[in-house]
Amino acid sequence: MKLFVCGPTVYDYIHIGNARTFVVFDAFAKYLRSTGVDLEYIMNITDIDDKIIARAKEQGREPAEFAKEWEEKFYEDAKALGITAPVYKRAMDHVPEIQSQVQRLRDKGIAYELEDGTYFDLSKFPDYGKLSGRTDIQGDDAVSRIDENPNKRNPGDFCIWKKDRPGWHIEDTAITEKYFGPQYDIHGGGADLKFPHHEAEIAIMESISGLVPFVKKWMHAGFLINKGKRMGKSNANFMTAREALQIYSKETLRFYLLSSHYRSPLDYSEDNLKQAEAATSRLAEFVNKINRFEDEMLKDPNPAIAMMIDQGEKDFYEALENDFNTPQAFAVLFDLIKNLNPLMTKRKFDRPSAALLLAFFKSVNEILGIIPTDLPSLPKTVEMMLDQRERARQDKNYDLADKVRKQIEESGYRVDDTGYGPLVKKK
Ligand code: AMP
Repeated sequence: MKLFVCGPTVYDYIHIGNARTFVVFDAFAKYLRSTGVDLEYIMNITDIDDKIIARAKEQGREPAEFAKEWEEKFYEDAKALGITAPVYKRAMDHVPEIQSQVQRLRDKGIAYELEDGTYFDLSKFPDYGKLSGRTDIQGDDAVSRIDENPNKRNPGDFCIWKKDRPGWHIEDTAITEKYFGPQYDIHGGGADLKFPHHEAEIAIMESISGLVPFVKKWMHAGFLINKGKRMGKSNANFMTAREALQIYSKETLRFYLLSSHYRSPLDYSEDNLKQAEAATSRLAEFVNKINRFEDEMLKDPNPAIAMMIDQGEKDFYEALENDFNTPQAFAVLFDLIKNLNPLMTKRKFDRPSAALLLAFFKSVNEILGIIPTDLPSLPKTVEMMLDQRERARQDKNYDLADKVRKQIEESGYRVDDTGYGPLVKKK
């Protein structure tokens, strides 16, 4: 199976809105691979663009070298976010392929020359707008700066080659044609790219090949919204991934970015990030707890527990199978924790079930990357008190639970009861 996702334009740090799209598709690709799909996943790097040229000029730099530096910073951030699924391809490494596409469009009479570049004649592609369902395809938002020229045949015509460099839309089709051929399975990107970028890709590739559809399935990640607007470099409402990673772990950020369905918008708020932090700590605590109490577990397998884990696993994969419903998959995990935790606290858990559960959580983490594995573990005495408090709460002995909580606090730790269960942190 073949997946292509629109990657970054490298002239600045990525923000957590960009990161949302990249994390969503990273997790999606890992999910597909976990089901046995032989997936090729390519992401492009836009390393030539107006914004790059302008920014480089401002700083007295040479654009190619400037872009290279930002490309490296992008890889650092992607790695820090646990993004490992794609293979990256630079636009500027594919100039011959881009020129070949430009030439073929000219040969077919679909592209025409003006004094500053080559343009795609939209009147030659009546299907333009079919992806976004837009009828107003020539509006102001249809063209970028590079596409402006008063002599164009149609107002929406876009530039595929300008003077000495490629137009933006044609980078992606040249790259995908080279590695995937003229048709492939899934194309992803942020929702802002549906029109005109993805419409233009369809127009270019279907015109060249005559094969329809160009891609079988389009997936668009919803926006990360801050203060009512899409988080964006131009809206000055962004937080860079680097800044976010100084405050939160990559698991917390991934949990947060996957906490609403990928097509829906996601609100930026500190509270949402704090919730995600609580959730990932809870997951880590639970895994620690299984490891911690292994010695005290029953030896014989309990089929009822094995069935609960098995059902949880089925529900988890079913949620992902269902249009990659990550919030639903998260809910399955926390339900499982809620149901199994009392059995662990009361020492009714068995070793074979513990092994099943750990293997399942390991697979979950390989796909979603949401369970921190390096959280410092608590001192044994605190763990015992925490356990005693949980048991008291389960027995509705709240006086005892409060007493134990005080003892935990006296030993220098704080207990916060969150929607995801009790969390303990050093004061
Ligand atoms: P850019 O570097 O601006 O070309 O964006 C890189 C990727 O991030 C593209 O797939 C965009 O669609 C996506 N993107 C940009 N802003 C946001 C946002 N606020 N929320 C989600 N995705 C975004």
